[in-house]
Amino acid sequence: MSLNFSSNFNKWTRDLLHVLYPQNCLICKNEFNQSKLAICPICSSELAYTHFEDYTEVTNLDKLFWGRIQLEGTYALLRFKQQSSTQQILHELKYRNNPEIGKHFGKEIGSKIKGINKFSDVDALVPVPLHPKKEFIRGYNQAEIISKGIAESSGVALRKDLLKRISFTESQTKKGKSSRWENMQNRFKIQGIKSARLQHLLIVDDVVTTGSTLETCVRILREEFPNAKISIAVLAVAE
Ligand SMILES: [Zn+2]
Repeated sequence: MSLNFSSNFNKWTRDLLHVLYPQNCLICKNEFNQSKLAICPICSSELAYTHFEDYTEVTNLDKLFWGRIQLEGTYALLRFKQQSSTQQILHELKYRNNPEIGKHFGKEIGSKIKGINKFSDVDALVPVPLHPKKEFIRGYNQAEIISKGIAESSGVALRKDLLKRISFTESQTKKGKSSRWENMQNRFKIQGIKSARLQHLLIVDDVVTTGSTLETCVRILREEFPNAKISIAVLAVAE
């Protein structure tokens, strides 16, 4: 078989596979040929993984909550940088009606944390709630979509009934610092099932920057579950 024929044959096979299994990358939307992958090789190579699952020392995400709240474990799959593929993923998830991307990376989080000891007894995934009005506009809560992916690959139950956002407050920047915590607290309400025998709650969100939203969720869940361990997992941590 001549080289030319062989490369033509390969091209023909690729094209045929592409016709049979058309595939668009979840991030860049470009078509590519590997039908079993959701992310094209170029975007994959640009993903900034934290590799927190391999850490034995404390991470910057652990440190973010020091002196604020008690956490059993923290996990972030990706590092967030401006102009990075991580930013693109979050943008797709929040503004481009692309829940599949959240599910995809949620599944990755689920399989990564399965290998981490601290998370081995997690028995409930609690997505950070979105205000119903926002959820209606977006069509979904991105934290819940990520949680669904985690549930799928880890087998842990999704419990979106444990935290519920009830009121929409004015912009925090208009408020003084002293009322900020009070203000945050009013934005969430536990809907809850105090009797549930949960021992380790994993709160899930898309991205963590200051950590104030997660802090609020932890404080509220702590009141309802004084003896449970609480951990957090996010798709991305801001650098
Ligand atoms: Zn791509």
